[in-house]
Amino acid sequence: MNESDDRQTLRLLPSIDALLRSETANEILQPVGAKHLTILARTATDLLRREILEGTNNRENYSREELLKEAGKHLESIWLIEQNSKLQRVINATGVIVHTNLGRAPLSENARRALVENASRYCNLEYDITTGKRGRRGASVENLLAELTGAESALVVNNCAAAAFLVLTVFAKGGEVIISRGELVEIGGDFRVPDVMEQSGAILREVGATNRTRISDYEKAVNENTCLILKVHPSNYRIVGFTAAPNVAELAELAHENDILLYEDVGSGALFDLSKYGLTDEPIIADSIKAGADVVTFSGDKLPGGVQSGLIVGRQAVIEKIRKHPLYRALRVDKLIYAALEATLESFQKETAWQEIPVLKMLSMSEAKIRERIKKFAHKLKKKTGENQELKFEIIEGNSVIGGGSAPMVQPITTLLALKHAKMSAANLEQKLRLSKPPVIARILEDKVLIDLRTVSEDEEAELLDSLIKLTAETRTN
Ligand SMILES: *Cc1c(COP(=O)(O)O)cnc(C)c1O
Repeated sequence: MNESDDRQTLRLLPSIDALLRSETANEILQPVGAKHLTILARTATDLLRREILEGTNNRENYSREELLKEAGKHLESIWLIEQNSKLQRVINATGVIVHTNLGRAPLSENARRALVENASRYCNLEYDITTGKRGRRGASVENLLAELTGAESALVVNNCAAAAFLVLTVFAKGGEVIISRGELVEIGGDFRVPDVMEQSGAILREVGATNRTRISDYEKAVNENTCLILKVHPSNYRIVGFTAAPNVAELAELAHENDILLYEDVGSGALFDLSKYGLTDEPIIADSIKAGADVVTFSGDKLPGGVQSGLIVGRQAVIEKIRKHPLYRALRVDKLIYAALEATLESFQKETAWQEIPVLKMLSMSEAKIRERIKKFAHKLKKKTGENQELKFEIIEGNSVIGGGSAPMVQPITTLLALKHAKMSAANLEQKLRLSKPPVIARILEDKVLIDLRTVSEDEEAELLDSLIKLTAETRTN
């Protein structure tokens, strides 16, 4: 197409008004409203104009009607993309338990109820019902955290990155922080220990080697400017082989001899021992406190299975100093977070966490239970769709993933439903599942789409079954 052809075509481009009168626009009007519809229509015609000018639209010549139709298609797809981008529930069939892209931990029933019933209307956030006076925000959650970890006191902020930034700012701004070279890690989602340190105004004193650091390395680095010894759990990263690092008790002793603090950032951390499920090197918060750490930070939405939050536990004087710092006011959390955390932590207090917290239920689901679930599921699917399909379902062995930067070496054994189509790629099948309602998110391995029921709750199985039945019907080619 030459330039004058382009100009000719552009003259036939529908006006916004013409597009707004189209049938597609009419269908979208109700859900989005007239004002936003106009914005979408402008985006659609702009896109079409650009395609014509850049020659990226396949067709050579368009009539006025065809251009209007084309603009209508663009309008529809722009609207669909917008719909998909809205926050919505998805079915996580990936087998990645703490899936950061899918919102990390799914909430317990109790936590979901607490969000709505306890915190979505007026509530006693900073009001003491017993005395009728002003109360301490978050007091109940702080007490729960202290009880569960054996710490004297606790505080909650927006996330663990905020917690680390806050602790370093309050106690080490302008001073030195000693850390092992093996712990200068980056955790997914742009949390880099050296960067957080720099932002907080603390000066980094790296000691030891990447694989081995001794207590004497720390000892030699202590001077009159040292404020903190920082221990960071490497989370998503492991050095194996010839390694060594002093434990929390040794570091605490050194810190206290020198009148400085020991701060441990455990990232995920565990509220109780998970070694039975292979999580042998996930620090238990209570152990760190007992071993003498002055302050410990961890995420509320990793292994604790709650909402996004940075949980800070430690000695009373340390926590009170943080609470009084103006930065705490900027990083504090909302009533919704306290409500969900309170309900989550209560499951740990009552020792019903294994039954109630989805992350823990998924983690502890036995191989036999998963196999049984997937067999029943596949049986129902076969019954509904019949044999001899081009879409084949096969039961295979595989692994789930803990995720969320926790325990990268632990991959619980699972049984999977593997989908393979005679004429369609796995990527194509995966996309169709992703676009179903609710979206089903699955993994691809060796040109098969894998469904792992470990991360699908039992009350979602019917919807998943429906999506697979629809997929079977949609992908039938004869
Ligand atoms: C995950 C993690 C963080 C960041 O936690 P967020 O809650 O995502 O901010 C910080 N430190 C460690 C060691 C982590 O594992």
